[in-house]
Amino acid sequence: MLARDDCLKLDADDPLAFARTRFRLPEGIIYLDGNSLGTLPVTTAARLAAVIEGEWGRGLIQSWNKADWIGLPSRVAKRIAPLIGAGEDEVIAADSTSVNLFKLASAALKHQAPRRVILTERENFPTDQYVLQGLEALFDGAIKLKTLPREALLSSLDDSVALLALTHTDYKTGAIHDMAAISAAARKVGALTLWDLSHSAGAMELALNRDGADLAIGCGYKYLNGGPGAPAYLSVARHLQDKLVQPLSGWMGHAAPFDFSDRYRPADGMLRFLSGTPVVLGMAALDEGLKTFDGVSMREVQAKASALGDLFLSLVEAQCDGEFEIACSRDGTRRGSQVSLRHPDGYAIMQALIEGGVIGDFRSPDVMRFGFAPLYTRYVDVFDAVEKLAGIMERGLWREQRFSIRAAVT
Ligand SMILES: *Cc1c(COP(=O)(O)O)cnc(C)c1O
Repeated sequence: MLARDDCLKLDADDPLAFARTRFRLPEGIIYLDGNSLGTLPVTTAARLAAVIEGEWGRGLIQSWNKADWIGLPSRVAKRIAPLIGAGEDEVIAADSTSVNLFKLASAALKHQAPRRVILTERENFPTDQYVLQGLEALFDGAIKLKTLPREALLSSLDDSVALLALTHTDYKTGAIHDMAAISAAARKVGALTLWDLSHSAGAMELALNRDGADLAIGCGYKYLNGGPGAPAYLSVARHLQDKLVQPLSGWMGHAAPFDFSDRYRPADGMLRFLSGTPVVLGMAALDEGLKTFDGVSMREVQAKASALGDLFLSLVEAQCDGEFEIACSRDGTRRGSQVSLRHPDGYAIMQALIEGGVIGDFRSPDVMRFGFAPLYTRYVDVFDAVEKLAGIMERGLWREQRFSIRAAVT
């Protein structure tokens, strides 16, 4: 088992150590929840102040042109593209992940008619399931949502399937899908693939184009550090862009929005996937969040993510004496940048841990989740976090009544 000093040595040799200074991390807290809400970059507050005071306060409406507010969805997208292995002209920042899923899934269905099946996974993230259920209800029997266990997905691909919609990294277990193999299998039967990258982008090397993905969506406030409720993004492979038309056909997706014409005519390329006015403050914060990846090798991010997870699991096994069931893969190459432990009293244990200064989160019914953001999580943080967890288990601290009271957001 590694000692604390070994972890300090790993931090000293970490090629990504320089990135930690890009974040403002509160004293005395070990933050293992960057997979839910990334931490505040050092530059974000000043950028927002400049946008508010200067661009909005003084520039007023002129800032749509002078500060290029109108170009923000494309400018932000240029920073996201290399993180997900797509071309700069294949990504746009907009709306929320849920809304982008609706836009792309419906555009794909329309394109794929008369195919009528959307295939997804039983363990998919709830909003993804709900949005697809909403689409099925909207089309009132004309389309069919098939929700299957992971093992049954590939064998269910046939020429009735319009779209295979999956989340690349499972939010509970961290399990990763093989994007290249699944995309190839889907292509073979003529189905399109749509990947939700919310728990993947910013934590590993992704290659949408190399792996043959058709469509993707993802979240701006997790590993991308865009701040609470940050805008999301979507990606459409070049060969599909002009074939897809999405139904939230608002003026920002029009070929000439400022002609104020009566008829919708979709813009060329990614702009047609916009709907309404960009959320300027949110886009500015996301832009700053993405700058934390400047000069960062995603291969190194992935290697560190996997090493941090391996370290956490080996320390838990050594120090927590069979208290937890490990609910994620032990193979770091098959896991996102998170680990999961199962315990029937996981909620109370997590609350006790948070009070002790180690922030992870809990996913019903019994999963304790720890995320590692490779840009700012250190090996020594992992060591100290497990030591704290082991102490709580040893003394049964979590049994105190107050740790069992559920808050609205877990
Ligand atoms: C976080 C997350 C979302 C978030 O969707 P919102 O529209 O931002 O609420 C969607 N899908 C997955 C897989 C996520 O992890």
